[in-house]
Amino acid sequence: ASQRKFFVGGNFKMNGSMKLIKEIVDQINAANLDGSTEVIVAPPALYLLQVQEMLKKPVEVSAQNCFTEVSGAFTGEISPNQLKDANVHWVILGHSERRSLFGDTDKLVADKVAAALKADLKIIACIGETLEEREKGVTMQVVERQLDAIAGEVKEADWKDIVIAYEPVWAIGTGKVATVEQAQEVHKDIRQWLSKRVSSAVAESTRIIYGGSVNAKNCGELAGPPDIDGFLVGGASLKPEFLDICKVQH
Ligand code: PEP
Repeated sequence: ASQRKFFVGGNFKMNGSMKLIKEIVDQINAANLDGSTEVIVAPPALYLLQVQEMLKKPVEVSAQNCFTEVSGAFTGEISPNQLKDANVHWVILGHSERRSLFGDTDKLVADKVAAALKADLKIIACIGETLEEREKGVTMQVVERQLDAIAGEVKEADWKDIVIAYEPVWAIGTGKVATVEQAQEVHKDIRQWLSKRVSSAVAESTRIIYGGSVNAKNCGELAGPPDIDGFLVGGASLKPEFLDICKVQH
């Protein structure tokens, strides 16, 4: 929509093998994407450099997570500075699986956002409500609380490095996609929130992408509304249909 470049991210999560990942990358390379949509893929950390080397431009890799510190005694973690050092320019932060399974609180996500920006990374910042929260009618309160924590760490000039991924938890990996109306309503509210909390210029230029059971069949309709600027794709990013999503008309 408008001045915002359409964005599609593929989140492989903890899936794949050397063999499968090579097959997926070969398919992406063979698709000759024209660059009209910005495409990012996020393989498990172990495969980041291999995928980065194999991928044809302009597709880029993203990490699925990083820590808050530059270096030190944090066994098993990767720092944003190390990602930057390895020429990985993107990181997904605040994914609902990190929030629900690995203790990524609003505060920890905000601290990771601050550290990633300091290291000059670009961020796919994920937010979204659970089914229980939606049914209670508190979707926007939850989304605003999550956004507010993140926004506290982002200077106005740094919003150009943030893509907001609205991912209702009940739609992730469930096959239960949000309706176009449900997604557009929340995206519009997020944009209004950005306008009030940050500035109208940031609200106008920040990409707000939808995630949750996006596939080749539903992406066309979901790409329609004015405030949906792309997708974060989990399950379907491991399949050839990912390329249909990358090529969707918008
Ligand atoms: C995700 O992991 O961000 C996601 C949206 O997963 P899926 O597409 O499988 O629902």
